[in-house]
Amino acid sequence: MTHPKEPSFRESVDLMFNRAVALMDLSPGLEEKIRVCNATYTVRFGVRLRGEIHTFTGYRSVHSEHKEPVKGGIRYAIGVNQDEVEALAALMTYKCALVEAPFGGSKGGLRIDPRKYDEHELERITRRFAYELAKRDMIHPSQNVPAPDMGTGEREMAWIADQYARMNTTDINAIACVTGKPLNAGGISGRVEATGRGVQYALREFFRDPRDTAQAGLSGTLDGKRVIVQGLGNVGYHAAKFLSEEDGAIITGIIEHDGALHNEDGLDVEAVRAWISKHGGVKGFPDALHAEEGAAVLEHECDILIPAALEGVINLSNAARIKAPLIIEAANGPVTAGADDILREKGTVIIPDMYANAGGVTVSYFEWVKNLSHIRFGRMQRRQEEARHQLVVDELQKISEAMGNTYTLSDRFKQKYLRGADELELVRSGLDDTMRIAYQSMRDVWHERGDVDDLRTAAYLVAIEKVAASYRAKGL
Ligand code: GLU
Repeated sequence: MTHPKEPSFRESVDLMFNRAVALMDLSPGLEEKIRVCNATYTVRFGVRLRGEIHTFTGYRSVHSEHKEPVKGGIRYAIGVNQDEVEALAALMTYKCALVEAPFGGSKGGLRIDPRKYDEHELERITRRFAYELAKRDMIHPSQNVPAPDMGTGEREMAWIADQYARMNTTDINAIACVTGKPLNAGGISGRVEATGRGVQYALREFFRDPRDTAQAGLSGTLDGKRVIVQGLGNVGYHAAKFLSEEDGAIITGIIEHDGALHNEDGLDVEAVRAWISKHGGVKGFPDALHAEEGAAVLEHECDILIPAALEGVINLSNAARIKAPLIIEAANGPVTAGADDILREKGTVIIPDMYANAGGVTVSYFEWVKNLSHIRFGRMQRRQEEARHQLVVDELQKISEAMGNTYTLSDRFKQKYLRGADELELVRSGLDDTMRIAYQSMRDVWHERGDVDDLRTAAYLVAIEKVAASYRAKGL
């Protein structure tokens, strides 16, 4: 239910933008140019299914073309509308700027409940939507590059890539027209897990600075921290899995569409995921308490709250009751502008969406570069790197023998050191570096400017400054 005073998603993004630009020295003209959405294309098309023509409505919105191609996912959901895709496109502009992915911002959506159609029908609908967008250059390797979002994944991206290639038979870069493709159709290792992985890297960086943890009244590392996750889709699942399996975090709550699971001793993320795919929801999962009213679990005590589902779930009606001292926005826009004010007032630390979920577009960037270079990362240097490491190990071995074998290299060290990096390792390294550097740029603004008291404003300041610099360089 929406609060009467709650602004729309796009208005919410604008309010947050306005709060940041008030602290900047941009000319009013440039400020307006950056804020507005450049264009939104609405398409209605018919597909004959089950003997009848079904009409679908889709959108592709381009927020800013200060860099091209513009980038952003395509969402399949029944609630898709123009306001939403415009808000999401704006967030893409800022997200790409913040993590230095050289793209403008865009977003698409199709108003559809994908669960109501079988695979063959979805393929026909997707190909038709892709055709409508591609013929207007709204799918194009150098102009507009979509990716997965809610309700879409590798499968849809493969159909889109194939549809574009059929329409552009002589384009040698056709495969770069969309990212998030399966590995065997031009994708990159680590793209599926990328957004969840990015959430993990973001939290690790947050916990590296005691000043930041102290702001949230926390201390130490991620080990033993109690986490509640809303939404066990691609992003929530991977974030929860990595945090619990690799960082020692305890997943005490999982909120899904049919209620929430709660267990203070920790939930087994893999087991919950398997239960959901078998039973269609979390209800009946053993080893946990089930709450019918899932949203109420957002208000439970925990150290870290990860909204990884829809926008607007933390709003004027529940913000005051949120107890988590740290929220990381794995979804886009889960906290409304009004809720953000309330939480800031309470001292809740929010790691904002435009940074927290930027892992997806970061690895999309790597995929696009891989597609344009037509070669897998690591293919040229991996064995050469291994050969050079072997030289060092052999030499050390000789020295050790000459010294009477008082010290020998352990097998574990040799194994780790000798292996040249493969594509997945390179992708993870590039993602980790990106997430650290972007966080540090926000952190500097947060701690060093006296007039910024939250990470979201810091993120907007860094991002808007970069977009403004691009426009200025163009002479606009
Ligand atoms: N849909 C994702 C997002 O919101 C990924 C976009 C992309 O990879 O281009 O960031």
